[in-house]
Amino acid sequence: MSEFPAGVDFAGSEHRRVVIIGSGPAGYTAALYAARASLAPVVITGIEPGGQLTTTTDVENYPGYADGVMGPEMMEDFQRQAARFGADIRFGAVTHVDFSERLFRLVVDEETPLTADVVIIATGASAKYLGLENEKRLLGRGVSACATCDGAFFRGLPLAVVGGGDSAMEESLFLTRFATKVTLIHRRDALRASKIMQQRVFDHEKIEILWNTVVIDVLGGGEVTGVRLRSTVTGEEHDLAVGGFFVAIGHKPNTALFSGWLEMDSQGYLVTEPRSTYTNIPGVFACGDAQDHVYRQAVTAAGSGCMAAIDAERFLAAQEAESG
Ligand code: NAP
Repeated sequence: MSEFPAGVDFAGSEHRRVVIIGSGPAGYTAALYAARASLAPVVITGIEPGGQLTTTTDVENYPGYADGVMGPEMMEDFQRQAARFGADIRFGAVTHVDFSERLFRLVVDEETPLTADVVIIATGASAKYLGLENEKRLLGRGVSACATCDGAFFRGLPLAVVGGGDSAMEESLFLTRFATKVTLIHRRDALRASKIMQQRVFDHEKIEILWNTVVIDVLGGGEVTGVRLRSTVTGEEHDLAVGGFFVAIGHKPNTALFSGWLEMDSQGYLVTEPRSTYTNIPGVFACGDAQDHVYRQAVTAAGSGCMAAIDAERFLAAQEAESG
């Protein structure tokens, strides 16, 4: 919980029945359903409109796109579909919330007050980093968590990727377009990724896997020149020369804003009631990756966005029926 910025005045501020925070598959689907239910939702997009899918390439597993679709293109489709039914989509970030009473109070971009009868949280998740000092120092100078965004800057160089899940497979495969070689570094002797993605990696001549290996430092003065590795089996250390280092070790939910207000699990995922999107505060609903640490797919996020809008609609209808 943080204090509202000085000077933000809620007297006469804009009021909306439904405010949706976040614009990934969950947020836009919630917006589509809420708009079609005549709830005139406003979507505050967050600093990465479209969410994580805007930083991926091919999406092959979203039903309905039989030939696959590029992530950014798919999110444009989501946005257009929500806007078509009147969702009011605004670029900005919700920086403060007060859920102590209804009307809920929110501040956008540190300065614009907004009140809401219902809030739908669809803030998603962000890439995790290893937490090494030099990883942070060299972020944007050879360290990246997004091959799609940054891969092309590393044409003709050897690159490294850390991680063993689908993200690491996807990043490694994508980077083969630019790299002379991709070294995939994984801390165990088995990958977590889906079998089909694993096989593509195993089959790719440009990718080498270093098993049972952890990254203990990122090397380089002005930009990345290599990584220092340690075997988890022998403890031996050695340096690997690379021009870029891609971190693909999973994500953390973007829920810090709600700390102190909403119930979360130990990893910061918002807790919702079983088979619903209700949080511990009536009138605040959560969907998508901010609340789901199990499935984390675009299609499941979209599904839970739909659920949140339906839950919100029924909640509002019940409130109205109660107040006569
Ligand atoms: P993930 O499945 O959680 O995998 C994270 C990987 O990073 C694991 O292999 C983990 O190792 C490793 N890791 C975690 N912390 C680490 C650390 N501190 N140091 C070294 N390694 C570390 O995350 P994800 O790959 O981002 O995938 C998330 C979800 O999105 C999954 O459900 C995935 O299927 C889905 N996804 C799907 C696609 C697709 O279908 N095209 C693409 C991307 C993601 P351990 O295995 O040892 O735990």
